[in-house]
Amino acid sequence: LDYRAITEAATYKSHNAFNRKAPVPVGAIKSITRHYEERKAISGELDFKRHARNSIGQRIRNTKTPEEKKSVTEEAKALKADIHLLEMRLSELDDKLLELALVVPNDTHPSTPLGPEEAAVVLSTHGPEPLPCNPKRDHVSVGQALGLFGFEAGALVTGSSWYYLQAEAALLEMALTNYAMSIAVKHGYQPVMTPDVIRADIATRCGFQPRDERDVLDSQMYHIAQNSSSSHPDLVLSGTAEIPLAGLHANRVLEESSLPLRMVGLGRSFRAEAGARGADTRGLYRVHQFSKLELFVLSTENASEAAMEDIRRVQVEIFEGLGIPFRVLDMPTEELGASAFRKYDMEAWMPGRGSWGEISSTSNCTDYQARRLHIRYRRSTSLEDAAQPSVASLPFVHTLNGTAAAIPRLIVALVENGAIFNGEGKAVGLNLPHALKPYWMGSGTVTNR
Ligand code: AMP
Repeated sequence: LDYRAITEAATYKSHNAFNRKAPVPVGAIKSITRHYEERKAISGELDFKRHARNSIGQRIRNTKTPEEKKSVTEEAKALKADIHLLEMRLSELDDKLLELALVVPNDTHPSTPLGPEEAAVVLSTHGPEPLPCNPKRDHVSVGQALGLFGFEAGALVTGSSWYYLQAEAALLEMALTNYAMSIAVKHGYQPVMTPDVIRADIATRCGFQPRDERDVLDSQMYHIAQNSSSSHPDLVLSGTAEIPLAGLHANRVLEESSLPLRMVGLGRSFRAEAGARGADTRGLYRVHQFSKLELFVLSTENASEAAMEDIRRVQVEIFEGLGIPFRVLDMPTEELGASAFRKYDMEAWMPGRGSWGEISSTSNCTDYQARRLHIRYRRSTSLEDAAQPSVASLPFVHTLNGTAAAIPRLIVALVENGAIFNGEGKAVGLNLPHALKPYWMGSGTVTNR
């Protein structure tokens, strides 16, 4: 981690952590500065002493009298002991610096609004006019009438907030996945099927670290119990394909010519959702397991803002094709988590719930994840770069992620916006977007619009 950058911008880093409500202990940034200065002094002293030790053999050989030899040998012993102590202190400082710096959040984009969720700024709105609020359109009751969801069976087989998708809902998951995947692939995103079980350490490196007492890794991620062998790594169920996609290039140096590297990964996301309650936990809105298609980009530092706009364009194309009203929000500081430099959320209008509901989230994590996962790139050196020794030859990439399709939320939006009712007000079918037709395997209750 870049301790020098933290030390040089200590005031900004403290204000930034405060504005983001990041769980950085009071005085942590000052401690980093203090430890970093001590580290610099110790490492200078170590260099000096190591240099002295390296030349002492020669000095011993050159001694002329036994007394002289004894004195230089004693000096060598003292040097060895000093070096050992300094190395121990250096390693203590490194551990302490890492522990402190790991909780320092990413910097924040200058245009990011300040404050809590309510401070989000609407950047654009899309799709048809929102329907009026109407509890009859609630996806749970429409789903019950059409036999789309198995919430009771889910609760019986696993627990509350676990579910089955049945009939058209099962076909919708397939159609939405393939529809969104085809748009992402058309825009140059390489398809990837990701592992859904990952090492906890990789999740931490991606910024999924404790935010506060309620929100620790243990309670937001499902840990996999393993048999007694201690050689097993700590494994968790992935909360998002962002984590395995980021891990795919860990410890690698990419060629600049291969960037931006765009991927679209399909994974199951598992969320313990500790602390979630109220209307959000009703039906499909906030569940413990869901399929999600995730866009992920590795780019150079100069191209990441453009890459974020590219992700946004792909998402807008996907959601506009679904014919649902939605809007794009520039998310404020307290919503950025540890890793995002800037975040856009998209919300769809859900008339049965009577509110806008988040359907996607896009983050530019700049070099936050790449530093922790060691993902660098080799510049294609131009003459200009070669003449500028300050230009790092193996800089960290920037990483970006964005939801292409979080299936249950899209099903909520499609069911609540597309339910068809008969004269008696009973739900009898779904009006689904024409764009899904090439991916639709069923017939029956669905009418294309
Ligand atoms: P996140 O990775 O938390 O930004 O989530 C990405 C997207 O997944 C969100 O925009 C939601 O559409 C969806 N999502 C997040 N959590 C849940 C959940 N517990 N149940 C269903 N969908 C979710």
